[in-house]
Amino acid sequence: MCEETPMPQQPASAYLRHGQTPFFRLPVVDITAQGPAAYEGADAIVLGVPWDGSVTYRPGARFAPYELRRVSAMVQSVHPVHAVDVFTALDVRDGGNVVFPPFDPEATRALIQQEVAHILGAGARPFVVGGDHSIALPIMRALAGVHGPLAVVHVDAHLDTSTAAVWGEPYHHGTPFRHAIEQDLVARGALHQVGIRATWGGADEAELVKSHDGTIYTVDRVADEGIAKVASDICTAVGDRPVYISFDVDGVDPAFAPGTGTPVPGGLSAREALRLIRELQGINLVGMDLVEVAPALDHADITLHLGAHVLYEGLALAALAKREREEGAE
Ligand code: MN
Ligand code: MN
Repeated sequence: MCEETPMPQQPASAYLRHGQTPFFRLPVVDITAQGPAAYEGADAIVLGVPWDGSVTYRPGARFAPYELRRVSAMVQSVHPVHAVDVFTALDVRDGGNVVFPPFDPEATRALIQQEVAHILGAGARPFVVGGDHSIALPIMRALAGVHGPLAVVHVDAHLDTSTAAVWGEPYHHGTPFRHAIEQDLVARGALHQVGIRATWGGADEAELVKSHDGTIYTVDRVADEGIAKVASDICTAVGDRPVYISFDVDGVDPAFAPGTGTPVPGGLSAREALRLIRELQGINLVGMDLVEVAPALDHADITLHLGAHVLYEGLALAALAKREREEGAE
């Protein structure tokens, strides 16, 4: 009898048959039910974190993992530029959502870190769908615990290096990169922030990043230099260091990404955002998040479709890297 080969993706029509499909129509695994076997042999796990208890303005990002599953059914496997069959080259699974007490941010951060550590323990890469940006801190903690200080490509309108001075709370969606720097999760000179343009609460707002030798690619700099040069400069700067991509969708202009809680005018175009990730080919990508997509504020799923494609671009980078490693080993 022939052994049945599991399909990397359900057929494109699966959304018609099933209504709700997994992320990118991928196989679903559940570590709480299956134990370590759930991630065995996987290259990447797409994990949802439906948490938006740490936002400072409009909530709603907690529903992104559910809605992104629906919309990502439209994403096919073969990358039109890289010519890589992403979901065949790469064993990617939908790992479900992190389950947490919805009123306890500290416990939630601990549970996120633990779930990401499980993925890393299995030798897979986490691709995490938030949720608000506060979830990036526990992910980076887990990653740095395995890889040491990371390089980070952080797409955002905001620096996300706020202090407790503004809200009387040190941990919220505007603070993950302050903690990441202070806790040595990001290597000196290895933070690359792209799309930055939000107003500052004080004249010294960018000091922390500058004192850590981080690079801020404001939207004007992106416009002047071009996104391809920005991507190429980042590739050169990060070298072989393990890279985490943290993609806050509000880095993109509200015209292209209206479905987000703290929009700022004048951002990246959808095309620039996708090309940035696409042209990071060759980096040692160890994980990625997509955060701050708020479906209830979206129109015609514009932001969700962008988010699904941004995440797919990250998965494509991982697929290319795997193909290169295998070709190198031959
Ligand atoms: Mn932001
Ligand atoms: Mn952010």
